[in-house]
Amino acid sequence: MPPLNAETDLSPDPDALKSRSDAGTVQVRLTGVRFAWRRNEPDIIDIDDFSVARGERLFIDGPSGSGKSTLLSLLGGVVVPRDGKVEVLGENLSSMRGWRRDRFRADHVGFVFQMFNLVPYLSVVDNVTLPCRFSRRRRDRAEARSSSVHADAMRLLAELELDRSKLIDRAVVDLSIGQQQRVAVARALIGSPEIIIADEPTSALDEGTRERFLELLFNECDAEDTTLLFVSHDSRLGTLFNRRVSLKEINRSVVEALP
Ligand code: ADP
Ligand code: MG
Repeated sequence: MPPLNAETDLSPDPDALKSRSDAGTVQVRLTGVRFAWRRNEPDIIDIDDFSVARGERLFIDGPSGSGKSTLLSLLGGVVVPRDGKVEVLGENLSSMRGWRRDRFRADHVGFVFQMFNLVPYLSVVDNVTLPCRFSRRRRDRAEARSSSVHADAMRLLAELELDRSKLIDRAVVDLSIGQQQRVAVARALIGSPEIIIADEPTSALDEGTRERFLELLFNECDAEDTTLLFVSHDSRLGTLFNRRVSLKEINRSVVEALP
């Protein structure tokens, strides 16, 4: 893969992408989805029909407060719409009970958050292996890949260029922002969930680190044909993805964005 920079156009030609979307398995689909955080408030999300194919690297942009994180919460089954269907891997999350959605998310979705959400009292490796404690499926997949969950965490950390020996016993809070970000990515990737959801994961990184980080993330997603749903208010990053949408293109609800 070439180094990523503003001049590198990695976006495929639109016809190739179209045929890929048409031919590819639809992994995420929203139909008639309406959502408000409170019952008597207007909808913040109102999406008629939107889908994402397997293996796509999708970039979603929009200003702060426009509903990007809310959309990701719907896609990950953290919340359910008041109307419509959110289908992920052929399952309708909107009609699942809370505990089944939690289970489904633990099994199939890896999250990378803006503030990383690492567990400060756990070591680096224990942070990475955490999803395998909540999901037997991911534990089995990690073990199948590297003989043990611990070994698979080490493999991912090495692939993400975190120096093994120095890091293992380090408290996670002692790491630099860039290192914490990579731990968060390793945690999202372990056990090969089909979908990675990333919410502004690069906002704390400087430009050079940001591009390197994206390159690592893309490589990992490509290796497993993982679908990447990536949100940022920084639309410049969009050129690095193979599909980009602005939230306002798919969302009929107009929200007053913050300045
Ligand atoms: P973005 O990620 O694009 O900055 P958000 O989805 O976080 O936007 O927020 C969109 C709107 O929803 C904002 O008005 C925000 O205050 C509101 N909101 C977000 N999360 C919650 C929540 N957990 N409870 C209530 N309101 C929320
Ligand atoms: Mg947000």
